[in-house]
Amino acid sequence: MSDIVEAVEAANRLAALSPVSVYAKGAFSCSVCAPGDWPAEQVQAEVNRIYLCGTEKGWTVSDDRAFATGQPMPCVCESDATRKHWLLDA
Ligand SMILES: [Zn+2]
Repeated sequence: MSDIVEAVEAANRLAALSPVSVYAKGAFSCSVCAPGDWPAEQVQAEVNRIYLCGTEKGWTVSDDRAFATGQPMPCVCESDATRKHWLLDA
């Protein structure tokens, strides 16, 4: 198995085990679903651990107070009320 395949599989395992899931991935922003009691700093640190960012400063929780859909940021997850959705910028 190549090093690249192993690295990708290791990254996938890391992401699969995380309580945070990245549900929308863009080049300069991403949206994640995280435990509802996690503060912004913890969400940000975990996203940087599981989802490598292409920029030097890494992912930061967005200053935007709303998603593109108009929902407040963060907002309660529509499928699990114990979780919250966050927007992060690269
Ligand atoms: Zn969710």
